[in-house]
Amino acid sequence: MQPGQRYGFSLVNAGQSSYKQAWHGYHAVASYDQRTWFRVPSRFEEGALNFDIEPQHAQIWFAYFEPYSRERHEQLIADAQRLAGAELLATGRSIEGRAIELLRISRNPQASRKIWLIAQQHPGEHMAEWFMDGLIERLQQTDDAELSALLEQADLYIVPNMNPDGAYRGHLRTNHAGRDLNRAWQSASETDSPEVYFVQQQMRAVGVDLFLDIHGDEEIPHVFVAGCEGNPGYSMRLQSLEEQFKRLLIEQGAEFQTAFGYPRDEPGQANTTLACNAVGLEFDCLAFTIEMPFKDHDDRPNPHTGWSGERSKGLGKDVLSVLAAMVGQLRE
Ligand SMILES: [Zn+2]
Repeated sequence: MQPGQRYGFSLVNAGQSSYKQAWHGYHAVASYDQRTWFRVPSRFEEGALNFDIEPQHAQIWFAYFEPYSRERHEQLIADAQRLAGAELLATGRSIEGRAIELLRISRNPQASRKIWLIAQQHPGEHMAEWFMDGLIERLQQTDDAELSALLEQADLYIVPNMNPDGAYRGHLRTNHAGRDLNRAWQSASETDSPEVYFVQQQMRAVGVDLFLDIHGDEEIPHVFVAGCEGNPGYSMRLQSLEEQFKRLLIEQGAEFQTAFGYPRDEPGQANTTLACNAVGLEFDCLAFTIEMPFKDHDDRPNPHTGWSGERSKGLGKDVLSVLAAMVGQLRE
């Protein structure tokens, strides 16, 4: 491309994609070096996503969201293993044989609580692994009183990428067998969904006192959570823990809100094939799906970056503060 000239782009089949209603208000992501990403004002018109740009350099990359590469993932796993008290506890295998790493951070042998966080069941939702990147970055702090309090009482079990085959193949939602992993938690199998099967086996061996499943949402321009209110056996205890988590995250000053999100499930009507509901039900524990936007968090809009890798990392760090504040109350 010639810097200084104007180029127009049209993704003519955008209207045939999985979430075509989500293109309104979406702006494409671009970079000259694959490190710094910015938004390009875009328009969804007659089934096509259109944008134009006067590039500053001869080469430019476009993405749906700031990518989290497999190379970066491998660096993250290596960095995480250098954390105090960290180990690669187990490694599952995807259908195509890619590693699904389960990390454990344990700094007190007497810690009784088990906190699980998993990300990128939906492989296109790269903000989820950026969240894990921020969380692991904060765990490198050695003088962080909140972290010390958290790890005094709890071990962390972290799966930064649940669906490496899907990410490698550019899938938005599914693994190599075409399974949506976040609909496989009542029927996980070693053949069709070994990714979920692996994590479930590990959870049953260890136990779960709190579970967070990290995602991105194509349509809603806000950070939000979805809980287990539709589960059979949903109790006052779980409701109060959910409310506490949300309140603390807001008090923390995190980029988060509760006015916008998914419709709440009616009592007993939860879809228990979702990880959040399945784990919350099986372990009678606080469980949330955390959703970050592909667009922007409209409570604090940033038209230059939209929601970004950096902001996802910030949310991961803020969530650790909430876990620290709540760890003593997870069980009665
Ligand atoms: Zn998702």
